Amino acid sequence: MLIDSHAHLDMEDFDADRTAVIRRAKDTGIDTIITVGIDLKSSLAALALSEANEGVYATVGIHPHNAEGWNENDLEHLAKLACNTRKVVAWGEIGLDFNRNYAPQEKQISLFKAQLSVARSLGLPVVIHDRDAHKTVLEILKRYGGGDAGGVIHCFSGDIDLATSFIKLGYFISIPGTVTYKKAPTVKAVAALMPLERLILETDAPFLSPVPFRGKRNEPSFVKYTALEVARLKGISFERLADSTTQNTINLFRIDSYKNHAHETERNNP
Ligand SMILES: [Zn+2]
Ligand SMILES: [Zn+2]
Repeated sequence: MLIDSHAHLDMEDFDADRTAVIRRAKDTGIDTIITVGIDLKSSLAALALSEANEGVYATVGIHPHNAEGWNENDLEHLAKLACNTRKVVAWGEIGLDFNRNYAPQEKQISLFKAQLSVARSLGLPVVIHDRDAHKTVLEILKRYGGGDAGGVIHCFSGDIDLATSFIKLGYFISIPGTVTYKKAPTVKAVAALMPLERLILETDAPFLSPVPFRGKRNEPSFVKYTALEVARLKGISFERLADSTTQNTINLFRIDSYKNHAHETERNNP
């Protein structure tokens, strides 16, 4: 059993076959998918998908690409949603993207800090997006970290030193499909050398399809190709890698407590 810890199931790429995509994941042994919000609208859509589909969980938050055109009301709105359902398992994705710079860097930074503070006050883990902003993300997390609930650096794209620094701060490292690419020595080294206890897996679907689907639309069932490559790099069995990354994801997002809670409710309702 595997978990896809980061997908964007609400995106229009899945409009034609969303139900089939979720079923295909289940048939492949991926019975838990975390679908991630990037703004108010997609967070609402993520939440709706999580409520309509067993095994689908949501995060809410505003991506750094959208660091212009938000206001405090949006954060309050999302915070209320997050409080009202156990299906919201984290705040994100939030962070900095100095690669595409769709929003000015100062605005990205102030939105990032504001959302770390909301996540901390709600006791939720954070899903961090860091593209070409390694030093600043690390510095901000050191000073204004999300809190005891921890978090994950999703689609990790740094080197061993950076991974080690995030792990020291208590964060998990999430390995995407890029680890299957031939010319990806840095992410392969991170997957091979970072401790199993701190690694989780993701697709970032519909983006970044692993080999053998590179260039095509990505979907949660493809996380198994990423898992196979990470197991190979670590020289361990697929089962051991799957067990460990699944347990790490369950612990980080406290998914078990939701499941247990749901069962209790069922038991108490005659
Ligand atoms: Zn991202
Ligand atoms: Zn994403």
